[in-house]
Amino acid sequence: PGAVIHRPNSDPVPFSVEFMPPRDAAAEARLWRAVRIFERMRPAFVSMTYGAGGSTRERTARITGQLARETTLLPVAHLTAVSHSVSELRAMVGAYADEGITNILALRGDPPGDPLGEWIKHPDGVEYAEELVRMVRDLGDFHVGVASFPEGHHRAPDLDHDTRHLVGKLRAGAEYSITQMFLDVDDYLRLRDRVSAMDPEQGRKPLIPGIMPITSLKSLRRMVELSGASIPPAVEARLTAAAGDGPEEDREAVRAVGIDLATELSERLIAEGAPSLHFCCLNFARATSEVLTRLGLDVLTPVGG
Ligand code: FAD
Repeated sequence: PGAVIHRPNSDPVPFSVEFMPPRDAAAEARLWRAVRIFERMRPAFVSMTYGAGGSTRERTARITGQLARETTLLPVAHLTAVSHSVSELRAMVGAYADEGITNILALRGDPPGDPLGEWIKHPDGVEYAEELVRMVRDLGDFHVGVASFPEGHHRAPDLDHDTRHLVGKLRAGAEYSITQMFLDVDDYLRLRDRVSAMDPEQGRKPLIPGIMPITSLKSLRRMVELSGASIPPAVEARLTAAAGDGPEEDREAVRAVGIDLATELSERLIAEGAPSLHFCCLNFARATSEVLTRLGLDVLTPVGG
């Protein structure tokens, strides 16, 4: 385990960070600046997303391999089933293993283009993430995690269906899940309760909350639209007030509220016994490290990032 947030009279809480494969050389340089800053804070692990439809396949594998070899971080590679045959998926897992990666987040992925559009299985591929979990487990000594959805997955007809399939992925051998970002802690707590009620054994596996420090209201709205998640009215009111009435949102004011919100969310999650905190940092270190500092993690003040 990496660095932990020490809270008075409570158990320490580790944190982790999610990166995205960079698009170009400038973005890659920025990623590495963030990586080096986070490295000093000793996260429990860092994860690297997999572009829609496998579009970032080579970059995800190459950079996750570099993280494994050239840093002290423990990388978790995301893998999605979209647009891949089973043999391509097996080859991808093999490529990860060759890079020294043994931790995989097994996902179904969304259709390329419109994430809410129709899901079409590759003719020789897998239908659900649960099959990918089994496949990766069968291929070797991998530690596998999966996605979970505090507000329910947008394709699930109801929360019971959604919970049943999350429990199915955990029973198939996933060791933990990481949630989609959410803004209402009660959604997370209700998911935790549903999983424990359905299967107490699977309910003991870590349900790692995904947290995104908001730095732009416009980007948040877009993300929420693409994922089928929602913004609680009280949160929206605070962000809208900060954004102001001008033609462009007041980014500094939104950012300050975003840091407050992520800190408050994290504090409540810690108080409610969340096993750790997973930050979607969008390859920037500043906002996440500000939240960590406010939570009491003794980190160096990053420069740039
Ligand atoms: P599944 O678990 O397969 O579920 C998909 C839908 O099918 C759900 O509605 C579920 O209820 C239903 N379902 C599952 N099993 C069955 C069954 N047996 N019968 C009937 N219905 C079933 N996307 C990327 O492209 N790249 C990434 O790197 C990436 N990283 C992510 C990280 C996290 C932490 C999260 C939360 C999401 C991430 N995503 C990523 C998005 C994810 O791929 C999408 O949300 C996708 O729509 C669902 O993936 P899943 O693995 O949960 O799918």
